[in-house]
Amino acid sequence: MVTSHYSPQAENKTIWVFLEQQDGVLEEVSLELLARGRELADQLGWTLEGLLLGQHVAGLAPHGIACGADRIWLAEHDLLEHFTIEAFTQVACQLLLQKRPSVFWLGATPNGRDLAGRLAVRLRTGLNADCTDLRIEPREGLLVCEVSGFGGGVLAMIEMRNHRPQMATVRPGVFALPHPDPSRVGEVISMEIDLDPAIIQTRVIERSVGAGLNLSRVPFLVTGGRGMEGDFKILEQLAQLFEGEVGATRPPVDEGHVGRERQVGQTGVVCSPKVALCCGISGAFHFVVGIEKASLVIAINSDPEAPIFEYADYCVVGDVHEVLPELIAVLSGQQVTYA
Ligand SMILES: Cc1cc2nc3c(=O)[nH]c(=O)nc-3n(C[C@H](O)[C@H](O)[C@H](O)COP(=O)(O)OP(=O)(O)OC[C@H]3O[C@@H](n4cnc5c(N)ncnc54)[C@H](O)[C@@H]3O)c2cc1C
Repeated sequence: MVTSHYSPQAENKTIWVFLEQQDGVLEEVSLELLARGRELADQLGWTLEGLLLGQHVAGLAPHGIACGADRIWLAEHDLLEHFTIEAFTQVACQLLLQKRPSVFWLGATPNGRDLAGRLAVRLRTGLNADCTDLRIEPREGLLVCEVSGFGGGVLAMIEMRNHRPQMATVRPGVFALPHPDPSRVGEVISMEIDLDPAIIQTRVIERSVGAGLNLSRVPFLVTGGRGMEGDFKILEQLAQLFEGEVGATRPPVDEGHVGRERQVGQTGVVCSPKVALCCGISGAFHFVVGIEKASLVIAINSDPEAPIFEYADYCVVGDVHEVLPELIAVLSGQQVTYA
C-alpha cells in the first residue's frame, strides 16, 4: 500500500478549501465549499481554512473570511499570477505538507480538477472526484464522500482511512452559496514559499475567457430533451419570457441542436434554479442529478409513465409541440417575479 507523506496521526483537525481565483474574483464554487466547511467545522469544533494562491490577491482574503473561513493561508508570487499547474502544485504541496490539514477540498473546475489530481499523486493520497455530498464522521474525523457510480445505479460513500489529506472535488452548484458576513473575524497569514522558475514548463501567452454562460445559478431553466425533436427555438422564446436560460439533455447536445455548455446533468452542469421546466425529457438519473436542487420542477411529457414525473412537482402529460405554444401564448405579456 502506498503511504502518504503524513499519516492520520500527524494531521491537524482542519478543513482546507482551495480558494480558486480568476482575475481578482473568487470562484463561486470555492465559496460554496466554505459554506459547507463552516457547517461541518462548527459541528466538529474544527477550524476552516482557505488556501489562496496568486499575485496581488491579498484583497480577496477578507471575503473568504466573511464567507466562513477562520484563517487564510496566503501565498503571493510573480509566478503565481496566472494558473500554471507546475507552480500551483509546487506551492500547494509545500503548504499542505507544512500545515497537514485533515481534509482538502477543491472545486471541480478545469483548474481545480487539474490541481487536485496532481496533488493527490504528489502527496500519495486518494482523491474523490465530483462528490455529491461531503460529511465528516465525528468519532474518527473521517471524511465521508458521496459519489455516484455505475450510471447512477450506485450511490457510494467513500472514506479514506489511512491517507492524508482526505481530498475531494465538488462541482459548482452542489452546495449553496454562503451569505457573507463582513463582521466575521479571521486571520490572514502570508506564507514564505520556495518556487523554482525552472520547474514551470508552461508559459501563459494569452488568456481568452468564454462568453461566461453559467447555467448553475439561473433562476429559470428551460430544459429540452430528445422529445423536442431539435426544436429549441420555442424553448428560447419561453426562456426569454422569464429571463431564463435554455439547457438540454445529452441527446440534443450530441445531435448538435444545442451547445455542449448547455448540457445539464452528471457530465454537464449541476443547476439550482428556482424553477426547472423539463420538456420532452424521460428523467434518466444522469440528467436528474443536474436539476434535483431546483426549488420547483415542472415536467411535460407525452408518456404518463415517464420517470421524470417522479421528480416533478407539477406534471403535464401532453405533446410538447402542442403544450408549449399554448403556454407561451398565455404567458406572453405577463409580469413574472420570483419569490
Ligand atoms: C456516463 C453517462 C453520463 C451521462 N451524462 C448525462 C448528462 O450529463 N445529462 C444528460 O441529460 N444525460 C446524460 N447521459 C445520458 C442519459 O443516461 C440519458 O440517456 C439522457 O438523459 C436521455 O435524454 P432524454 O430524456 O432527452 O431522451 P430520452 O430518454 O429518449 O427521452 C425522451 C422523452 O421524451 C418524451 N417525448 C417524446 N416525444 C414527445 C413529445 N412530442 N412531447 C412530449 N414528450 C415527448 C418521451 O416520452 C421520452 O420520455 C449520460 C449517460 C451516461 C452513460
